[in-house]
Amino acid sequence: MIIDGKAAAATLRAEVAAEVAKLARAPGLGVVLVGEDPASAVYVRSKNKACREAGMLGFEHKLPAGTPEADLLALVRQLNDDDSVDGILVQLPLPAHIDTNKVIATVSPHKDVDGFHPENVGRLASGLHGFVPCTPMGCLMLIKAVRGDLAGLDAVVIGRSNIVGKPMAQLLLGESCTVTVAHSRTRDLPAVVRRADIVVAAVGRPNMVTGDWLKPGATVIDVGINRGADGKLVGDVDFASAEGIAGAITPVPGGVGPMTIACLLKNTLTSAQRRQGVQRK
Ligand code: NDP
Repeated sequence: MIIDGKAAAATLRAEVAAEVAKLARAPGLGVVLVGEDPASAVYVRSKNKACREAGMLGFEHKLPAGTPEADLLALVRQLNDDDSVDGILVQLPLPAHIDTNKVIATVSPHKDVDGFHPENVGRLASGLHGFVPCTPMGCLMLIKAVRGDLAGLDAVVIGRSNIVGKPMAQLLLGESCTVTVAHSRTRDLPAVVRRADIVVAAVGRPNMVTGDWLKPGATVIDVGINRGADGKLVGDVDFASAEGIAGAITPVPGGVGPMTIACLLKNTLTSAQRRQGVQRK
């Protein structure tokens, strides 16, 4: 089965739009882009477009690459204090002269729709309500749509970044999976992956996970976005060899990517609902 992330994302976006329509005030998302990174510019444009389509307001702030850190922090504080802004997203990566951790920690945890603020990271680890990073949140939705109850399943997450691997592992642990987090120092990765009922690949290496690494019937979620020599996007999983072995697998593109943006809208809606007193959690 090929998991249709585009269709799942369209459904989620329609649900979000229906909830947005019930609110007294349209949710607002402040998006900050520093510099000219072309991939980041594409992401920011598609996030703003998705916002508008869901009936939300996108406030785009484009700053030059040389913006001093203090100016960026001042903008973030201004967005924290702006009542029309429910969510704040600072597009990463930031230029090298800016301390990314400082910027993340300056975003109000109540508007941190990316789920990167240490308070929300701690909330996720403690099993408390908070904002969950969009990519792993979308991955979990896709996994649950295929597998239902995940309790007791063996899950292997390849990659331990703060934005994908670690929160993905926390979410799967929260679903009572037995979770292994693999990384560049893991020994005999194919043998580790072969144990898994659920594999999430978030590495950034084209076609690294091949079909012979997989347990037959495994659910395979490919987070990787890599550009091949021919300019086409490829994932971290070798789709051709994995498709026949996996029970369900996400394609690249059209798998995890669309869900990431839909989850950003969902988090922004949640923030607006909390701030308008519609939802307390
Ligand atoms: P990072 O570069 O931050 O992390 C990559 C992880 O992969 C690290 O933990 C690294 O291990 C591990 N790794 C590297 N090489 C190997 C190897 N040979 N074997 C096992 N593990 C390895 O990347 P991100 O987590 O930010 O992103 C991962 C991928 O997902 C990228 O392709 C990115 O473009 C994509 N992505 C897609 C999104 C979407 O919406 N679809 C959103 C975010 C990311 P170590 O820690 O030891 O260095």
